[in-house]
Amino acid sequence: MQKNHINGNWLDAINEGIWAVVNPATEEVIASVPFGGTADVQVAIDAAAAAFPAWKGTNAWQRAEVLKKVADLMRVRSKELAQITISEAGKPMPEAVGEWVVAAQFFEWYAEEAKRNYGRTIPASRNNKRMSVISQPIGVVGIITAWNFPVWNLCRVWAAALAAGCTIVAKPSEYTPLTAMALMELLIEAGMPAGVANLVLGNAAEIGEALLSRPEVRKIHFVGSTRVGKILLEGASRTNTKLSLELGGNAPCLIFPDVNLEAVAHSAAIAKSRNCGQVCVSPQRFLVHQDIYAAFVDRISFHLSQLKIGHGDDSNTQIGPLINARQRDQVEQMVQNSIRQGARLSTGGHRPTQFSKGFFYTPTVLSDVSPDYDIFRKEVFGPVLGVTPFSSTDEAIALANDTEYGLASYLWTNDLRTSIKVSEALEFGIVGINEWAAHATEAPFGGWKQSGLGYECGEEGLHEYLEKKLISTGDL
Ligand code: ADP
Repeated sequence: MQKNHINGNWLDAINEGIWAVVNPATEEVIASVPFGGTADVQVAIDAAAAAFPAWKGTNAWQRAEVLKKVADLMRVRSKELAQITISEAGKPMPEAVGEWVVAAQFFEWYAEEAKRNYGRTIPASRNNKRMSVISQPIGVVGIITAWNFPVWNLCRVWAAALAAGCTIVAKPSEYTPLTAMALMELLIEAGMPAGVANLVLGNAAEIGEALLSRPEVRKIHFVGSTRVGKILLEGASRTNTKLSLELGGNAPCLIFPDVNLEAVAHSAAIAKSRNCGQVCVSPQRFLVHQDIYAAFVDRISFHLSQLKIGHGDDSNTQIGPLINARQRDQVEQMVQNSIRQGARLSTGGHRPTQFSKGFFYTPTVLSDVSPDYDIFRKEVFGPVLGVTPFSSTDEAIALANDTEYGLASYLWTNDLRTSIKVSEALEFGIVGINEWAAHATEAPFGGWKQSGLGYECGEEGLHEYLEKKLISTGDL
């Protein structure tokens, strides 16, 4: 059903607003969805607040039954669900199916993890006193998410918050609402009670403001740009709403001279192509030892130039379009600025000529990048990477940390000392050593510095939706 979902009902926007959903590969309008605002989100918050006591009152085993049914449905239907995601996000079929399959893991894993929400007892410093600590669901959670992972961005948070016993009001990106609606249908089929999970589309600023200003909303989780993250932080400074923020990244990739250069260049090209580079942990700033620098630029340029660009539902496609014209134009602008600043274009740098429609951009390598160029300083969120040479390990570490971002970083070496020294010196929430997929359902995912606040995934992800309570008994 392509509507808002509030208190168990599929609804149009109260103001009758409509948003046209566009396929980024064809630029065709594929659906019209409700586009409301303050009035709709207020009703959704009422519903989530009313549903909270009963959902909180279920035990973790009961909640797990519903969540694991959601996971089962996702696995059985991953291919048809992936078609919905491809139609609005453009990503290649294996990536879209993969998103739904991993989303099933989020639901299954948090269904189980919530059963291990153990408390603790604390030995007191006085004999007539006993203390214990329990964790309880925080309350209604507002969840605002971006379009780049239409399934994951939602499920990482929905699964954890619902497993913890919270009720939710979710606002997905206006660019990928159909995936969110499909997810909501699965929750309903699995038996989620009315009002526990609510979905509202509409004016983002209004919805953000309403979520901030209602005291029943105890926490907002946001996935998106650092710009909007700061708007929410400013708002929260007025209302004291707790926040977790999953913001941008600008991942450094340190390549030392002892690696298998061909294998690293090939795997790096595939990692960069994932979701057309629209990934907050996408490898972006390649820092390559001077002894292998020229060869690395050559090989990664070759591998990126070989990727098959196309529509997500074409089985040959390895890289799809960007999400919209604005995103494509930003990427194009950043490439042009960096070239003006002195970067060398080693491959790509233009729109592919074989498509008359769609927001496509060719995979691009910029070499001879200095730290003051745009491609080094700003998050590109597209199929573009920059390469910069280094001559010593200390220089590589300094270059890697020379950013306001602190989400993912990557390091390729076979030298034990280098891997330990560098991984401990990097100022990032995630360090991947000899791998490009340094994240997992069961491990914490979060950014340092301007990249965020708090964590998703792992046990940390569950505790974002639990409050600690000290229960202290005296006069014994
Ligand atoms: P992008 O530009 O990549 O879409 P955004 O950070 O703008 O990233 O969007 C992420 C999410 O934040 C989307 O759901 C969007 O609608 C929402 N959003 C945009 N502006 C605001 C705002 N002022 N307050 C709250 N949410 C917002």
